[in-house]
Amino acid sequence: MARAGVSLVKAFTRGVRRKCPCCGQASAFRGYLKVVDTCPSCETPLSLYPCDDGPAYVTMLLVGHLVIAPAFLLHLFYTYPLEVVLPTMVVSMAVLTLVLLPFVKGAFLSLLWYLGLRTVR
Ligand SMILES: [Zn+2]
Repeated sequence: MARAGVSLVKAFTRGVRRKCPCCGQASAFRGYLKVVDTCPSCETPLSLYPCDDGPAYVTMLLVGHLVIAPAFLLHLFYTYPLEVVLPTMVVSMAVLTLVLLPFVKGAFLSLLWYLGLRTVR
């Protein structure tokens, strides 16, 4: 299945790059997380695809697996004092969340576009 001649992998990679999943030419965002109303290049109405809390859930899942799981595997909680480990974990999780969230939202938007899951107006 391809939507508008675009494969799922192509749409997903365009989304991760924060580009319009339909044409891949223009940015799908006008700020850190705000989706443009329509793509300036191909006029796709990107604001009709509601990401809601989906990107936040996926980002938390990724950050949890990228930070917490290695901390347990490397025995950080048992090797170092909690006064050192806890602030380090909180700061690294916060930074990683803020870095990953825009790209996860772009990927999420591209999947919604590919599947045609949009609001009706
Ligand atoms: Zn476009």
